[in-house]
Amino acid sequence: MTLRFAREVRTGSYLMPDAKGGLQEVGLTVELRRDPLTGRSGRLAHFQGFHLHPADISEAVESSRERCPFCPERVLQVTPLLPSPLAPDGRIRHGEALLFPNISPYDRHSVVVTLTREHFVAPQSFTTTQLADGLGAARQYFLALAPAPRGTYSLVTWNYMPLAGATQVHAHLQAFSSDRPGGLLEEEMRRSRSFFRRRGRTFWEELVSQERAVGQRFLAEGRHSAWLTSFVSRSVISDVMVVFPHRQSLEELSRDAIEEFATGLVTAVRFFGEEGVVAFNLALYPAPQGESSEHAWLHARLSPRIYFMPSIRGSDTTSWQHLLDEPFMVRSPEALAERLRPALEAALG
Ligand SMILES: [Zn+2]
Repeated sequence: MTLRFAREVRTGSYLMPDAKGGLQEVGLTVELRRDPLTGRSGRLAHFQGFHLHPADISEAVESSRERCPFCPERVLQVTPLLPSPLAPDGRIRHGEALLFPNISPYDRHSVVVTLTREHFVAPQSFTTTQLADGLGAARQYFLALAPAPRGTYSLVTWNYMPLAGATQVHAHLQAFSSDRPGGLLEEEMRRSRSFFRRRGRTFWEELVSQERAVGQRFLAEGRHSAWLTSFVSRSVISDVMVVFPHRQSLEELSRDAIEEFATGLVTAVRFFGEEGVVAFNLALYPAPQGESSEHAWLHARLSPRIYFMPSIRGSDTTSWQHLLDEPFMVRSPEALAERLRPALEAALG
C-alpha cells in the first residue's frame, strides 16, 4: 500500500439538558481526511439525523419551458454559429445533441452542447445514447480545434439544474479549450507529475489498484474505465469518480469507451435521481495537449447537489466549502459505494 488515505476521528462534545433537569454529556464524532494526491483537507461531519429531502423542481421546469432557447423550435434561430472551418453548417450534431458557441464564453473556445430534444429530462430518464452523443459532439469539436497549442486542456462540464449552477433547465454540457483549467486540475497535474518522478509510477494506476484491493470505495470497472467514490468528496453526499487508464483526454476515447462512460453515467445519475437528487455537477479532468503526460490519466467527477432544507431552499454550499475550501460530507464515500455498487457492477460488468 503506497498511497496515504489519512483520516483522524475527533469528538465534539456538549451538555444537553435532560427531562430530569440535569445535563447529559453528548459526544459526536467527526472525521478529518486528506486527499491522497493533493493533500487537500475535507471532513465527514454534520451527519447525525441527516435525510435526503427530495426537492420539487416542477415550477422551474414549467416556467422555463415557454421561452427556452434550447428547445428544438427555437434553438436554430437564437443560438450562434461556429466558423465554417470548425463546422461546415455552423453547428455539430450527433443524434439529439447539438453543439454551438456559448454566448457567454469562458475562454477563446467555449461551446454548449444541448443533450436532448425534450425540454426536461429527469435524472432517471437519460439514455446512454443521449450522453454518448453529447460527449461525442464535444470530442468532435476538440478534434476540429486541433492542433491545440501546447498546454491546452479540453474541458467538459455539466451543470444539471439551476441548483447546480445551470442557467437553463434544458440539459446541456459546456466544452471549452483552455490553458487555464482551474486551480484544482492545475494542482492535480503538479502533484501527479511529482508523484511520477519520485515513485516511477502513475498516481492514478496506484489509486485504482489500491482502491480495488481495499474495496470500500471501489464500485466497478469496464473495459475502458474504473469507477470509485472519492475519499475526499466535494458533494455533501459524496462523489463518483471515473478513471480512464492510460488515456489523457476525451479526444483519445474510442466510441466504445465513450459509450461505456455514458452507460456508467446514466446508471449513477439514475441512482441519484431515485434517491431524490435533482441536481449534479460533472467535470472531466484531462491532461494538457502536447506534453509528456503519462503521469496523468483522464478522470471525471460526478458530484450530486442537494438542498439541505428544501422548504427554505437551504443550499448545500456553506462558508466551509465556498470560502475555506473545506468540503464536508454528511454521507461517507464508503456508504455511497455500498449502495451504488450493485447497479454499476450490473451496468458495466
Ligand atoms: Zn428547452
